[in-house]
Amino acid sequence: MTARVLVVDDLPTNVKLLEARLLAEYFDVLTAYSGRDALAICERAECDIVLLDVMMPDMDGFEVCRRLKSDPATHFIPIVMVTALDQPSDRVRGLEAGADDFLTKPVSDVALISRVRSLARLKTVTDELRMRAGTSREIGIRNAECEAIADTGRQGRILIVDDRAGSRERTVATLAGEHAIEVEENPNDALFRLAEGDHDLLIVSLGLQNYDALRLCSQVRSLERTRSLPILLVAEADNDQRLARGLDIGVNDYLIRPVDKNELLARVRTQVKRKRYTERLRDNVQMSIEMAITDPLTGLYNRRYMETHLARLVEQAGNRGKPLAVLVVDVDYFKAINDSYGHDAGDDVLREFALRMRKSVRNIDLACRYGGEEFVIVMPETDMGVAAMVGERLRRLVANEPFAVQQGERRLGVTISIGIAALAGPDDTAAALLKRADRALYRAKRDGRNRVVPDAA
Ligand code: GH3
Ligand code: MG
Ligand code: MG
Repeated sequence: MTARVLVVDDLPTNVKLLEARLLAEYFDVLTAYSGRDALAICERAECDIVLLDVMMPDMDGFEVCRRLKSDPATHFIPIVMVTALDQPSDRVRGLEAGADDFLTKPVSDVALISRVRSLARLKTVTDELRMRAGTSREIGIRNAECEAIADTGRQGRILIVDDRAGSRERTVATLAGEHAIEVEENPNDALFRLAEGDHDLLIVSLGLQNYDALRLCSQVRSLERTRSLPILLVAEADNDQRLARGLDIGVNDYLIRPVDKNELLARVRTQVKRKRYTERLRDNVQMSIEMAITDPLTGLYNRRYMETHLARLVEQAGNRGKPLAVLVVDVDYFKAINDSYGHDAGDDVLREFALRMRKSVRNIDLACRYGGEEFVIVMPETDMGVAAMVGERLRRLVANEPFAVQQGERRLGVTISIGIAALAGPDDTAAALLKRADRALYRAKRDGRNRVVPDAA
């Protein structure tokens, strides 16, 4: 896992030291000697992770961190504060300024590389999600960055797995004031509970007595339902190797006993916040996928989706020698509806028509709005005869029951015309099929509308 790491420190020797160790692990390294330079580099989106010294003249590390974390353009870049050993309160201040993690000088190799690796992994995931969510941001669905900046990281739902009563109770006492806490002694039960629930964080004691805590962590990582649940390990001081294994497995963060209350609070908030942020990004991606393939007025598939999918269905039917039919449906004199009763009434008719159309087709049929008042139904494994019956049923369903518009104040008689074409052998194409259905529709219009016409070819 490689990443571009920005090292920020006002002392060149410190910069060189960290740079050399990161280069040895094949990270790309950028350097800055002041807060302002660091901000400029981050704004140009040139780095994946920032290692940030606290003590700097002009603008200290806390301020740089606060600025990066409150700007939607840089909020998602992971920041590790590098603090002095004799200033323990700096750690918590750093986390409160929004830092994702901190390292204490002199920085140990295990800590440096494992922290940077785990944040690089996180960054890869968020970058991917941000890119996919980018489209939805342009459409303006929701701005995950702004919501994340406003999120305090409180009110999380947290499961604690610890079989030692004393330490468990201390953790609960610290966190209960700002989170909903659940406790589980048995790791197997914990897994079930996590798979059911909607948790924001799992806190595990590394030193469980009758169970390998890392096994639990790896199970959480491998289950679909819990794959992206953040995990915080609580470890004894002399357990570097197991900790490193944990971080390899995908544990997100850890605390060393005796646990500092403020550090626990701050780390938990960071994890909860991060979890909600990635969740929002995922929701956005999901939403933009749905928006890309559906028509907003009717909720039917849109033309783009239909065309892509029709090509696939035609190929499949051709290969297997199965029939396939296409109906092109157009509302009659729709312009007159708009002209007489207004555009909103026209929209009501389209929505109601989409409902009736959905009711008259099977699950495997593909119903879509082709554009305007024109619709297409693709029916796999259906020949011309059956398609004509379905078309006729739909025509009656529309013509026999007036459409309510203007909040039910008015009812309008509506009719439709339908052209049908069926797949004509393995060399037939989606475009040719649609064209023939369109030609049949034209005939239906010409012959007086409110009718179903199969393509004669
Ligand atoms: P024909 O029987 O020959 O199909 O006549 P028509 O009036 O239905 O056909 P024409 O293609 O002339 O008019 C279609 C109208 O549909 C024109 C356009 O303003 C309207 N239209 C297209 N999309 C929408 C929409 O989303 N909402 C509403 N209300 N009207 C739409
Ligand atoms: Mg029309
Ligand atoms: Mg039309």
